[in-house]
Amino acid sequence: MTDEAPGARADDERLILLLVGAVGAGKGTQASILSRELGLPHLASGNLFRAAMAAGTPLGEEARVYMERGELVPDEITIGMFMEELGAPAAARGAILDGFPRTVGQARALDTTLADQGERIRRVIYIEVPTDTLVRRVAGRWVCPECGTPYHEDTDPPKVAGRCDRDGTALRQRDDDRPEVVRARLERQVPPMLAVVEHYERAGIVDRLDGTQPIEGVTGEILSRIGHGGGA
Ligand code: AMP
Repeated sequence: MTDEAPGARADDERLILLLVGAVGAGKGTQASILSRELGLPHLASGNLFRAAMAAGTPLGEEARVYMERGELVPDEITIGMFMEELGAPAAARGAILDGFPRTVGQARALDTTLADQGERIRRVIYIEVPTDTLVRRVAGRWVCPECGTPYHEDTDPPKVAGRCDRDGTALRQRDDDRPEVVRARLERQVPPMLAVVEHYERAGIVDRLDGTQPIEGVTGEILSRIGHGGGA
């Protein structure tokens, strides 16, 4: 009686959740909390590119040029890399997508791949934060190059300015977190991001959340929107 593809029933469908937000909106933070809460992998395209750069792969070297200018890496490079991660066994039950898709071209490629497998994105969570707040949040981020501990000038400063609390190493800023690069990233990346939100609004699957509220507030709202109530 049914023409559903095997494995595509609603109750065993992969939970694919997409987090959208400008740099500094807190989508990485939310993605890692949700990954723990829901037991699903956090797939972040920015992290995949940074790992490829650190490993010195050809893909990493190609991406580096764009990332250092605060530009988007071209779709031809990004789509293939991300689809491979989404098809890996680690994502067999679903995934939290952070930073992909970032263009309508990427969104269409993702939609088509999922539709071919009888799947779809469950919800798109758009975390909204005003631009001034974003620049302040991102340009204040520092990290210890030795142990990776993150700090923030305003909200989580080290005890001694510019030094890691754990090992005293001089803190560094991610190259693309410098204020001028942050502004470039916002200018170039917000318009395509808004186009992605519009693309999914047409499918009626977008939830807009206020990203200026405390971290737990945003998490609670996301969990309730996807029907996980957050234990409440
Ligand atoms: P993020 O850590 O998400 O801020 O990403 C860091 C950088 O990686 C971005 O500024 C882009 O240059 C690149 N990047 C990450 N995800 C994508 C994507 N989906 N499409 C194109 N470029 C991306």
